[in-house]
Amino acid sequence: MSELSELYQEVILDHNKSPRNFHKLKDADRTADGYNPLCGDKVTVYVKLDGEVIREISFEGSGCAISKASASMMTESLKGKTAGEAEALFDRVHKMLTGEPGANGGAADLGKLAVLSGVCQFPARVKCASLSWHTFQAAMKKAGGTASTE
Ligand code: ZN
Repeated sequence: MSELSELYQEVILDHNKSPRNFHKLKDADRTADGYNPLCGDKVTVYVKLDGEVIREISFEGSGCAISKASASMMTESLKGKTAGEAEALFDRVHKMLTGEPGANGGAADLGKLAVLSGVCQFPARVKCASLSWHTFQAAMKKAGGTASTE
């Protein structure tokens, strides 16, 4: 096992074992449910906005280690960002996950999120990793609804 995949596993396992911001947000302004039928991952994302700024973000759900770790890392990354910054980050993460050419250069400054780049080698897992991001996007676009990876 390479050093990178060890790091990748370590971070994923850590976030799966003790997910950050893993709770319901009672006074959330935005919320959406996500479901990945391929794997059975379910996630609910809660967002509390302060104008354009994401003041609080949390999630609940059940699913595989990758879906949970990805959601956990997402909440850490998006807290304090503006809606526009979040959108730009989503775009970069999505490109990284789908292994779009040219995305690797961008992974360098994605911080911890870069560990998810290993997922693009496992196409069946890409939807696990992107589920929470799609759900977040759905939450930001409207006050409710269900996001699906399909
Ligand atoms: Zn999954």
